[in-house]
Amino acid sequence: MTCKQLGGPCDQQLRGDNADAVIKAQDRHLRDVVAAGDETHSRALKAMQGRWKNPIAGFSWYRNAKRDFAALPED
Ligand SMILES: [Zn+2]
Repeated sequence: MTCKQLGGPCDQQLRGDNADAVIKAQDRHLRDVVAAGDETHSRALKAMQGRWKNPIAGFSWYRNAKRDFAALPED
């Protein structure tokens, strides 16, 4: 999946064996680029952090991410 598919602004590819691993990869990617001074990712990072604090809103996002992951073709 890409950063963009997970709510971020770029087309960075994120890989993992399952949706949880991809979501973790996105979390790390957001932290890395924001730490490197990338402003365009800071909103996505805040949204990601907000999801952990707001389980109801976060859960539907999480379910959608899992569904999108499941819909990906095997590679
Ligand atoms: Zn990105």
